[in-house]
Amino acid sequence: MLNLVRNGSRCLQLRNQQQICPRISSLNHLVQQKISNLNGDGARYQSSLPVPAALELPEQYSKSWSVVEQSKISEFDIDAILLEHNVTKAKYLHLACADSNNAFSINFRTTPMNSTGVAHILEHTTLCGSNKYPVRDPFMKMLNRSLSTFMNAMTGPDYTLYPFSTCNPQDFKNLMSVYMDSVFCPLLREQDFLQEGWRLENEDIADSQSKLVIKGVVFNEMKGAYSNSQSLFGQHLLNNLVPDHTYGFSSGGFPMHIPSLSYEELKAFHAKHYHPSNSRIYTYGDIPLKTNLETIDDYLNRFSHLEIDTSVPTQTRWSSPKVEKVTCAPDPMNPDPAKQSTVAVSYLLQDITDLQESFVLQVIGDLLLDGPSAPFYRTLIEPGIGSGFSPVSGYDNHIKESTLTIGLQNISEDDIDRVVGIIDSTLEEVVENGFPKNRIDAILHSYELGLKHRSGNFGLNIIMNMTAYWNHSQDPVEYLRINKTLDWFKQSLADDPQFLQKKVKQYFVDNKHKLVQSMKPEESFTDQEEQEFLKLEEQMRSKLTEEDKTTIRNKALELLKSQDMKDDASCLPTIKLSDIPDSYTGPVVNRLSLAGVPVQTSLQPTNQVAYFRALLDTSEVPSDLKTYLPLFSSFLSKLGAKHLSYQDLDTQIELNTGGLSASCHLAESLTDMNSFSDTMLLSSYCLDGKIDEMFNLWTMIFEDLHLNDAHRISTLVKMSATNAGNGIAHSGHRNRFWFLTVTYSLLPLYAMSTAAAAVNPVSAMADKYSGMDFVNLLSSLAKQDGNMILQKFQALAKILLNKNSMKVALNMTEECNDSFLKSTENFLNNLPGNSGSIQTIQAADFKKTDAKIHHVVPFPINFTAQSIATVPYTHPDCAALRVLASVLSSKYLHTEIREKGGAYGGGATAGSGTFTFYSYRDPKNLETFSVYRESLDWAVDGNITNQDVEEGQLRVFQKLDEPVQPGYRGIREFLSGVDDHTFNQQRLRVKAVTKDDLVRVTTEHLIDAPVSGRALIGPAQTGLEDLGWTTKRN
Ligand SMILES: [Zn+2]
Repeated sequence: MLNLVRNGSRCLQLRNQQQICPRISSLNHLVQQKISNLNGDGARYQSSLPVPAALELPEQYSKSWSVVEQSKISEFDIDAILLEHNVTKAKYLHLACADSNNAFSINFRTTPMNSTGVAHILEHTTLCGSNKYPVRDPFMKMLNRSLSTFMNAMTGPDYTLYPFSTCNPQDFKNLMSVYMDSVFCPLLREQDFLQEGWRLENEDIADSQSKLVIKGVVFNEMKGAYSNSQSLFGQHLLNNLVPDHTYGFSSGGFPMHIPSLSYEELKAFHAKHYHPSNSRIYTYGDIPLKTNLETIDDYLNRFSHLEIDTSVPTQTRWSSPKVEKVTCAPDPMNPDPAKQSTVAVSYLLQDITDLQESFVLQVIGDLLLDGPSAPFYRTLIEPGIGSGFSPVSGYDNHIKESTLTIGLQNISEDDIDRVVGIIDSTLEEVVENGFPKNRIDAILHSYELGLKHRSGNFGLNIIMNMTAYWNHSQDPVEYLRINKTLDWFKQSLADDPQFLQKKVKQYFVDNKHKLVQSMKPEESFTDQEEQEFLKLEEQMRSKLTEEDKTTIRNKALELLKSQDMKDDASCLPTIKLSDIPDSYTGPVVNRLSLAGVPVQTSLQPTNQVAYFRALLDTSEVPSDLKTYLPLFSSFLSKLGAKHLSYQDLDTQIELNTGGLSASCHLAESLTDMNSFSDTMLLSSYCLDGKIDEMFNLWTMIFEDLHLNDAHRISTLVKMSATNAGNGIAHSGHRNRFWFLTVTYSLLPLYAMSTAAAAVNPVSAMADKYSGMDFVNLLSSLAKQDGNMILQKFQALAKILLNKNSMKVALNMTEECNDSFLKSTENFLNNLPGNSGSIQTIQAADFKKTDAKIHHVVPFPINFTAQSIATVPYTHPDCAALRVLASVLSSKYLHTEIREKGGAYGGGATAGSGTFTFYSYRDPKNLETFSVYRESLDWAVDGNITNQDVEEGQLRVFQKLDEPVQPGYRGIREFLSGVDDHTFNQQRLRVKAVTKDDLVRVTTEHLIDAPVSGRALIGPAQTGLEDLGWTTKRN
């Protein structure tokens, strides 16, 4: 069964963030998303290979492999074959289908029995060089030599996963070779351990007399990760609920424990866990099985069988519930200092390999917590006891046995027992009364729609979702047979109307393996933690002999030397720029007018799903109201309309669509940096048969949005303030399949947004809508009653909810074309207003300023950014600046900021009229700004080679030519105005960039820029004001 992920926008889901430590952060992806409107339409990526014939094990491999299972998965038009390697017993699953975005992964069951982060540090060091590719950090180097659509590695609680995907067959072969060689034949040099894990080193490496302190990439990464109280809460919850074996520890590593890991232990862990006998290999896409087997077979044949047992025993069940109390740092962003406690009740449930029970529990988790008509929304959120569900609330099947957590955050310490009492009584009430039928139907509908709607990277999503299951199960193919489980579920419900109530009684009310965990802030928490680190360092220093100190010093200097050395990456395979075609053909888009509104349509193989998008001009909104636009948009479908209460509207939305969403959308002019359009984007999708129902819901919202319930507004504002204050965002939309709900840290983006706002008018507007100022606004609004906001919303509704200056985009299958157009016309005819076009806003009075802004936050780690105004999209230098950002990132900033500086990452990005440097989870602060400046000097000093330029170009093309799912094709021009001709002009310019261009644009646009915006998000610093910084506290 698939990992059924609830809509991320509703419940906090931090589990991915806290338990999975990726090799590289998703930040680059996020940054790119900001300019993704400017990327391709992916129409070229439909498979050009013939649909594969029935799968068979090729003859020449029949001696070394056995077929375990072979079958068709009709749900996804996939042919699956599961193989076992005869000697090592390695498992290999291949899913053949007509998708050219081929995916690969290899995973090992890794079950550390301490919190030194050994699995996580191994994941990092494995990718630091291998026998066949003995270069420093081939993983990072391959990022520049490939057209991958995804490359990463991540450590879960009990597995380590190495996945990638790409549309280019040669690239697939190249990457597979590097990944296989890295995991099976890594060099695992001591130096890699010191760099990626931990080391003692002089605080200032240039000064041999400065004191020795702990440094290291994973050490800093985890310090940053656990400085977030939410992550800490989730980690403790897992450790406390399933304490007996590997889940009793942190696989990412607790910073205090990391320095007790030795290099020898790391190597021993590799020898035991990274063996084919403990591996699961996966490929997906249109590349033939035979081609993939060539590489896989070659590696596995070098090994014999290893008898190892990495299985995780079932947790012994408790005979009575347990109570645990933990502490955290106070949160200065919290609007109510008296309400800073969190409490959650967590239940240990069933083995996740039981697909039917997993499905029932997933549905129950959704019914209990998801959406405003859920019982716990009514009993926990609406009374206003806290501001939102606690971290990890909801059903979780990331580990061997699933769990369900129900909790509330930002409550008063005195309310802890009351909340626990409400949780008990609500569950008893559910056992008594059951769930309303239309809610069960709504959830089943959303599963069915989720099977059809494809977003993102399909083959990759399968393995990301399936890994936790396959890690403990013999049969991954069964997981994909969703219809079988759905049918069983419906039948069970039909046979016994009390089916779900009985399950709630069994798994929750009668469950003795129940943990009540509360967390409260302690004023001295951060100080105490810092003291402990200092004490640890002191202890380590005191044990050192003079000889040890010399060894440490020498190793540090050697590491620095090797980091400074330019190593020869020519042994690594690469894609050539000449492999990228010059021509670009976008999807066919038709343009027409319906009810006076401009409409574009694109006929696509959307799997019987119809996609609707509309842009509404917001340029007429007065500036005092504009501040409220982001809230107005995000609450638009959550307030109720016409005869439907907000609960009923929510159920109807889920019964008929994949969700109705609205957001602020800014698009900079392609030719002039001082002008842009400011709009609200509406979007929704549904099955072809439900188009009228979908429009009916939008019509009710346009005609009669409920703007009279101040309590409702207050509740929503408080929940938003909590999410924003936690500094996190969720990807994805209401979709129970495929979209692994990833939680991002927003802090790096806040830093970049603050910096760019100083030098660019569109960025300044974007900062108002989604930057730190917006977070601050939310936290002040959370303290007020909802009436003032209601008045603002009423004024906004009057201006916006009509078809004045609207435009529409529709994606659908050919069969659906006529009915979708007819329904759209009806919908538009019924809307009030006259048609007009979307206006361009001129920001003539915008003045760039030399800003230095420090946002003080309670984390012991920094996020920095510096932004310089550059050129608009159609300017000839735009392409060179994009390539430059890519070259600086991989050739200079990565080494200086991550490898030497110990930050989780750093780089540069160019787009939207700005060139922006960034670093995240950075132990340094002002020094990093010097690195930014030095990178520009490095660029003009003739250090960039032709190879560097080509790699930079490839990296830009990874995004430019990224594949796009059918429901999203043709949307680039709709949102950004970049037509196919302009887009291809940009592609060709990127392809034509030379070394001299990079030097020239650095000189002309960056090195002597008169002003720049600088932002620092991090702990309080003395002396910054004297250096011209403006400190902002929340
Ligand atoms: Zn990591």
